Amino acid sequence: MSKTFLIDTTRCTACRGCQLACKEWYELPANKTFQTGTHQNPPDLNPNNYKLVRFSEHLIGDKVEWYFFPDQCRHCLNPPCQGAADTLIEGAVIQDEATGAVIFTEKSAKLSKDDFEYVRESCPYNIPRRDEKSGRMVKCVMCIDRVQAGMVPACVKVCPTGTMNFGERDEMLALAEKRLAKVRETHPDAMLADPYDVNVIYLLGDKPERYHEHSVASATPMNRKNLFATVRSAVG
Ligand code: SF4
Ligand code: SF4
Ligand code: SF4
Repeated sequence: MSKTFLIDTTRCTACRGCQLACKEWYELPANKTFQTGTHQNPPDLNPNNYKLVRFSEHLIGDKVEWYFFPDQCRHCLNPPCQGAADTLIEGAVIQDEATGAVIFTEKSAKLSKDDFEYVRESCPYNIPRRDEKSGRMVKCVMCIDRVQAGMVPACVKVCPTGTMNFGERDEMLALAEKRLAKVRETHPDAMLADPYDVNVIYLLGDKPERYHEHSVASATPMNRKNLFATVRSAVG
C-alpha cells in the first residue's frame, strides 16, 4: 500500500508555507521574479520550486472569488513520465515500491532537451521541469528522505489549516470521501481529482478548470505521447 496525500483546497488560505518549506528542506535557491499582476509567485513551477501555490480569480455573479491550488507532482500510480522515459533511458524515472514516490534520477541528465520535452509532454499534469545547469529533470520527490525516516513531507508538516494531509492510501481515500461528502453540503460541484490514478488527491470545491488548466488529467487532451506512455507503463 503506497503513501498518499489529500490536498483539501477548500481549507487553503494561500499562505504559501508549503511552498517555502519545500524550498527550505531541499535548499532550493530563490528565483528573480517580477510583478505580473497576480499574487502567484513565481509564475510557474521551475527547477527551484517543486511546489507552487497557484492563484486564480473569477468573477462569479457580482463577486470576485479566489481559487487556490497548491500544485505538485501527483505521484501517479502508473506514471506516464516513467513510461515515456523508459523508451529513451531505462532508470531515468523510477517508482519507489514502498511509498509509490516517483523519482527522477541522475540518469535523467543524459536526456537531451528534445527527450525531456517528450517526457514532459507525457505528463497529464505538466509537472516535469529541467534544470539547465545539471541537465536533470526535477520535480517533487514526496520528501522520500523524510518519509523513509518516519516523518511527514515538509509541506504537510508546516500547513496550518489542514489542507495538506499525508498517510496510508486507504486512510487518505477514506478521509477524502468523508470530506467530500461534507463539502458537497454547501458546494454541490465539489469533486476529487483523479483519486484512483494518483497518490496526490485534490479535493476541489468547484469545477476543476477554475483552479488550473492541469488540475485534473481529463482537462488535458490525451495526445499520442501520453497515450503511448500510459499504455506502455501499464503493460510494462
Ligand atoms: Fe495552503 Fe497549507 Fe500551503 Fe498554506 S501551507 S498555502 S494553507 S496548502
Ligand atoms: Fe510523472 Fe507527471 Fe505523474 Fe508526476 S504527475 S508522476 S511527473 S506523470
Ligand atoms: Fe516539496 Fe516534499 Fe512537498 Fe514534494 S512532498 S512538494 S518535495 S515538500
